[in-house]
Amino acid sequence: MAEETIFSKIIRQEIPTPLLYQDELVTAFRDISPQAESHILIIPNKLIPTVNDVEEEDELTLGRLFTVAKKLAKEEGIAEDGYRLIMNCNQHGGQEVYHIHMHLVGGQPLGKMLNI
Ligand code: AMP
Repeated sequence: MAEETIFSKIIRQEIPTPLLYQDELVTAFRDISPQAESHILIIPNKLIPTVNDVEEEDELTLGRLFTVAKKLAKEEGIAEDGYRLIMNCNQHGGQEVYHIHMHLVGGQPLGKMLNI
């Protein structure tokens, strides 16, 4: 059984983080340490620690991450200029919280994709 992270507490609102979106599959809220003008996290309500743990049965949920990203990008007013969606996996990917999440970042030019 995977260990819960702070994100499960946010989903259940045990930590009172303002939610931008929530339904039966996913939850979205602002990143506590924004890396761009606009930085939102969209996460499955189900605890999936890393992309390596994704199962076929999760496909609907993972698809929902994209439809919610599209909706929130529009609401943020960044859809037309563009934005970046990022999912980090494990150590080399720079993952810090082991509950998969999609970063939606934008509101300014983001430069090159990788800075190795
Ligand atoms: P990652 O490095 O891909 O695992 O990203 C984890 C992200 O979660 C980082 O951008 C953190 O700033 C963000 N984060 C950690 N704790 C919180 C929190 N309590 N509320 C909002 N964002 C958080």
